[in-house]
Amino acid sequence: MKNSLKWISLSLLICSSVNAAQAPAKKLITIDSDVISFTNKSFGPKAMEIKSVEGISLLEIDEDSINELSHEMHERFNRCGGFMVHDSLDEALETLESSEIRNFAKSAPFAEYSLTEEDVVTDMIAQVSEKNITEVIKKLSSYKNRYYKSQSGVDAVHWIKDHWSSLIAHRNDAKVELYEHSKWDQPSVILTIEGTTDETIIIGGHADSVAGYWGRANAHAPGADDNASGIATITETIRILANSGYKPTKTIKFMGYAAEEVGLLGSKAIAKEMKQKNANIVGVLQLDMTNFKGSDLDIVMMTDYTNQQQNAFIGTLLDKYLPEVSWGYDKCGYGCSDHASWHGQGYPASMPFESKKGDMNHNIHTSRDTIEQSRGGSLHAVKFAKLALSYAVELDR
Ligand SMILES: [Zn+2]
Repeated sequence: MKNSLKWISLSLLICSSVNAAQAPAKKLITIDSDVISFTNKSFGPKAMEIKSVEGISLLEIDEDSINELSHEMHERFNRCGGFMVHDSLDEALETLESSEIRNFAKSAPFAEYSLTEEDVVTDMIAQVSEKNITEVIKKLSSYKNRYYKSQSGVDAVHWIKDHWSSLIAHRNDAKVELYEHSKWDQPSVILTIEGTTDETIIIGGHADSVAGYWGRANAHAPGADDNASGIATITETIRILANSGYKPTKTIKFMGYAAEEVGLLGSKAIAKEMKQKNANIVGVLQLDMTNFKGSDLDIVMMTDYTNQQQNAFIGTLLDKYLPEVSWGYDKCGYGCSDHASWHGQGYPASMPFESKKGDMNHNIHTSRDTIEQSRGGSLHAVKFAKLALSYAVELDR
């Protein structure tokens, strides 16, 4: 209630200073149909449903309302992300109507899911360091925010690039690049370890952070759990893989996505481009929030907009390499994180999450999302780094 009143008074202030006849700029988004009654009630004509297909709805929404929607998707529906913003009506309709592609991404096998690399995996997962993960979380959460339109959001991604570069400096089969986006300043970052076949494995998470819905470029958004934890988990995975001298057969790419919190923008652009180039992606692992243990289960695999066969494979990895870890399944809704961008392009994605959806860290998207909520350490994220290492090696071989 407090937030809504603030929003109304700020809106009035802004509206009085612009030409009343000027129509607001519009954006097209796809979103879970189960939130339409809420958007109708709260946004009225500012968010109009155009079409719905199989539980996904296409909305035309005032650009000014996007931040408020993203805030509400988190507050009311426990989603990080929660919708996808589209560049054009064609793209939006393609996403909405591509149920055949979604079914393929959900059920087809994309690899031979056998476990054959016990010695290599066991050796690697013994090297996971909680201290290293904690240091990266602390560094990333020391930026005022990592918002996609703020300088600190750009600086944080440059820091990730430099840090990842230092981890692979001794290898001539690896490189780190910034992926620039034309419509906003924050780049995504991609580390590639070249394989010998055309197959590609992707392990990613978003680098941006947000707090509140107004004045986000100046808000204090440490985003320690959401999602410095995922980037730190990926960073530790890179360190161990690179140091081990492991030479992958398939190309392995690690990604820190820009602008997830505002409609999966960064991952959507990358997934779309890779699809256009016919990339042969055999698996995508999404790490978004790995360091808050909110449930009795340690790791919860999201079953919606993910690949069932790959999810089952990850279950076998957990049983074999992390027998002390308890795990289960839940759903997180449409567009809850970047895995939806890959799924939408027909690629097999999985999203192992820190808790059941309802038990997730409720301090995310506020200035309270600090590492203190995880007792100042990264014990929970350690499990995800071990899982990511076993995933990379066993999917590769
Ligand atoms: Zn997130």
